[in-house]
Amino acid sequence: KKTLNPLKKINQEIFSYAAIKQQEIEELKRMAAYRREFLADVSHELKTPIFAAQGFVYTLLDGAVKDKAVRGKFLKKAAKSLDGLEMLVNDLLTLSHIEAGEIKMHFESFSLMDLMQDVFEQFEGKADKKSIDLQFDKTYEDEIKVYADYHRIYQVMLNLISNAIKYSEENTKVVVGFEIRSNEVEVSVRDHGTGISPDHIKRIFERFYRIDKSRSKDRGGTGLGLAIVKHIIEAHGSSVSVTSSLGKGSTFSFKLPRKMQGKNKPLPSVSKP
Ligand code: ADP
Repeated sequence: KKTLNPLKKINQEIFSYAAIKQQEIEELKRMAAYRREFLADVSHELKTPIFAAQGFVYTLLDGAVKDKAVRGKFLKKAAKSLDGLEMLVNDLLTLSHIEAGEIKMHFESFSLMDLMQDVFEQFEGKADKKSIDLQFDKTYEDEIKVYADYHRIYQVMLNLISNAIKYSEENTKVVVGFEIRSNEVEVSVRDHGTGISPDHIKRIFERFYRIDKSRSKDRGGTGLGLAIVKHIIEAHGSSVSVTSSLGKGSTFSFKLPRKMQGKNKPLPSVSKP
């Protein structure tokens, strides 16, 4: 029987140890580069609303404040920039907590229809402004239970629906649908908006990635919504799928488990045409 030369064995161990250390160094370098890039992106994004608000306030201080009409208009614009800044800071905090693994998911069993009622309430008035019809694709019974984090999924639905409304033309529909299977529910949000080309689809989940920067900013987003959505859905063991056709619209979907893994029996199917 052949035995391994002890020197050769030690050599092999040294090599594999060095390989592991090399990997760790690469990982640290990658993290450092990520942090640098993140900081640069964040500073850039923060500057935009700060400069805008400063511009309005200083113009007022320079004398425009005496003109009543201009005063109201500029104060409103400054307030809007500050609202945007607040939104950005909130999204940044959420994203950094999630990325650092500091946000614990609170999984529980809840009714999707209860959640959707809360979500739709948020859009009352907002969807109307653009005459967008926010609706379900069919009638569902109340008891579609899923096992997930209620508040996080609420956040996901707010983001997906507000994007669907943002990137749609007036007088179109935004449709929420549930595909109910024995172990899971596939949730989808479909719009008839601008659509996304295949090369952009790959990148829209990156933080601050916007297809049309000026237009997206006009529409009031932070560029972090989909990055947050992706993290939350991945924390549920699922992933977000997108199908889209330029000029026709997009569908974002993800799956949620209907029960706690390995425990209680699956619920009977309750979908109705
Ligand atoms: P934003 O705050 O800019 O909306 P998101 O992370 O939510 O940031 O989305 C990233 C980009 O993906 C958007 O700027 C937009 O270009 C594109 N996008 C997201 N949702 C849709 C949609 N439903 N239809 C078309 N484009 C979309």
